[in-house]
Amino acid sequence: MSNLRIGLPSKGRLAEQAASLLDQAGLRFRRQDRSLFARVRELPVDITFLRTDDIPLLCAEGAIDMGITGGDLIEEANVDLTTRLSLGVGKCRLSVCVPEESSVKTPADLAGCRVATSFPHVSKQFFESHGAKIHLVPLSGSVEIMISLGVAEAIIDLVQTGSTLVANRLRVLTDIGEYETVLVQNKETRHAETANRIVRRLEGVVIARAWSLLEYNVPRGKLSEAEAITPGFNSPTVNSLEDADWCAVQVMVKRKNVIDVMDRLEAIGATAILETDIANCRL
Ligand code: AMP
Repeated sequence: MSNLRIGLPSKGRLAEQAASLLDQAGLRFRRQDRSLFARVRELPVDITFLRTDDIPLLCAEGAIDMGITGGDLIEEANVDLTTRLSLGVGKCRLSVCVPEESSVKTPADLAGCRVATSFPHVSKQFFESHGAKIHLVPLSGSVEIMISLGVAEAIIDLVQTGSTLVANRLRVLTDIGEYETVLVQNKETRHAETANRIVRRLEGVVIARAWSLLEYNVPRGKLSEAEAITPGFNSPTVNSLEDADWCAVQVMVKRKNVIDVMDRLEAIGATAILETDIANCRL
């Protein structure tokens, strides 16, 4: 039987992030120069390097069995795909933005206005749901400068930190959606078993990246308070210590909360609090 084909972004930040995730999940390959194909060692998987915005359609059509791309691009492509896994990178919002000094208060106020975007499908649906008829200006990039160029009164664009908006003296009127990089799958792939294996491997890496392992000792009388602070991924592992009044706890904690959690554990009397990185996991 042929190999499972997975489509990866051919260039840009997402290409690097996807390659690093696959590598950490043990799907190793070598891409020669700017070749459009690569073969994964040790698994029946071929990689095809594609434009990120072509990946949703090519996956839905079955040209590739799986793909890594932005959730925003899947929604815009309006295709029928299974999203198998959110990859914890590329988080952004799709927002309607207007000039800082604009008096516009609601999307309906934009009726009759020109709106520039590289998300025409999602934008059209959004304004229709608000009962506002707008003039869409579909573009493939540089949307943020279209108001100052006099092409539009509003834009719909991806916002991550908001610094592009500040630089162009724009503000968010409202958010349309929140997205991140995802792993998608064709609904009728003949390689379901290999696909499941890839999902399990990537899931292990995504969880390992988002969580730390915390170990600490706590007086037995404070255990329920400690467990409330650190409920864990499933539940904490609690072991007895030689001193019967104390126990040792091992628990997973969201990486972004670790410092705060350490402060709170220390405040209830926990000691020897250690954080360890998780390189990979299967839960
Ligand atoms: P920021 O200035 O951090 O708000 O980023 C906004 C700029 O980065 C806009 O030009 C966006 O089109 C682009 N951008 C932000 N997040 C993403 C993403 N997840 N995928 C693609 N482009 C993005």
